[in-house]
Amino acid sequence: MPPDQIAIPPDMKPADGRFGSGPSKVRTDALAALRATGISLMGTSHRQAPVKSLVGRLQEGLVSFFELPDDYEVVLGNGGTTAFWDAQVFGLIERRSQHVVFGEFSGKFAEAARLATHLETPDVIETEPGTVATPIARAGIDLYALIHNETSTGVMAPVTRPAPDAFVTVDATSAAGALPVDASDFDVYYFAPQKTFSSDGGLWIALCSPAAIERIGSVAASGRYIPPSLDLKIALDNSRKQQTYNTPALATLFLMAEQLDWMIDNGGLSWAADRCKASAEAVYSWAEGSDVAWPFVKDLEARSTTVATIDFADHIDAAAIAKVLRANGIVDTEPYRKLGRNQLRIALYPAVDPEDAAALTRCIDYVLETLGGNA
Ligand SMILES: *Cc1c(COP(=O)(O)O)cnc(C)c1O
Repeated sequence: MPPDQIAIPPDMKPADGRFGSGPSKVRTDALAALRATGISLMGTSHRQAPVKSLVGRLQEGLVSFFELPDDYEVVLGNGGTTAFWDAQVFGLIERRSQHVVFGEFSGKFAEAARLATHLETPDVIETEPGTVATPIARAGIDLYALIHNETSTGVMAPVTRPAPDAFVTVDATSAAGALPVDASDFDVYYFAPQKTFSSDGGLWIALCSPAAIERIGSVAASGRYIPPSLDLKIALDNSRKQQTYNTPALATLFLMAEQLDWMIDNGGLSWAADRCKASAEAVYSWAEGSDVAWPFVKDLEARSTTVATIDFADHIDAAAIAKVLRANGIVDTEPYRKLGRNQLRIALYPAVDPEDAAALTRCIDYVLETLGGNA
């Protein structure tokens, strides 16, 4: 049957068809709560109580959710994770960073550091997409750039210090709140809210250790040129006043706070991590049992429980499957564009119901059968 004529039976479909890795599914309850704020939040000053208390609620929620020690601080600013890479280039790396690179996102931070003329050429430890690269303690490295989950390939990696005194920052954009983590293992754990936190984009959040706070101060005091919008000292000073340096997106803040509270009410980080595991189990066990599909990531330890990447046999057109799913309201299962594989990529963040993940696999089977000749 031609792909555009395939109608998946309604009772087979997931209740919510959003499986995008970012922006990701925003719960409709959170959207309803935003709507219910009426005239009390949207369109009011971010220097006044309604927004400041929202930022405070978010900061307190993150401290409790991640069980942060008393001397850790939650810093936030505008520009998403990408801006936070540049903020690190200006405000955290002293001379030379080391980057593990095993996909697009880890590669982009390494590239941002490489372009900086005030820094030495970074040390890059790179492996093939689908595998994990491990940081190695080396003399002269003052910042180790880790990534908790490489969203482009569906690979998760351990968060550990390569040496006890190593200064470690972790891109946790598609991991934070969905993979277990221990605050003693990082100095900065940073993310944006449009992935695991099921909000919208534009913001960065950084959980900072005392060593990170100290580093922010010492680099700022060094006299180096730092653009104000990327200045972490300015961001820290504002965060301590429940504000951001420039205007944040209020809906982004609100939706993130809603998602965080929802996860806390349900049992916190371990609950959220288990929920993602259940979704991942549904998808990977289906792929393992399929004749035409299999998990892209071979190493079981590295197989992400938040972003599943599934390869298809050459005679199957994964793009056609994604197209049929999309026409049926099941969206954003396309692979990361630059990876260029015959693949589907499925986000399994905490907002996704494991039942929906299981339903998705049944829909894929249905599409495969119905595509028939193509399949
Ligand atoms: C999406 C993503 C980014 C980029 O986030 P932006 O907020 O769009 O800048 C960076 N790192 C990882 C791991 C991501 O998944």
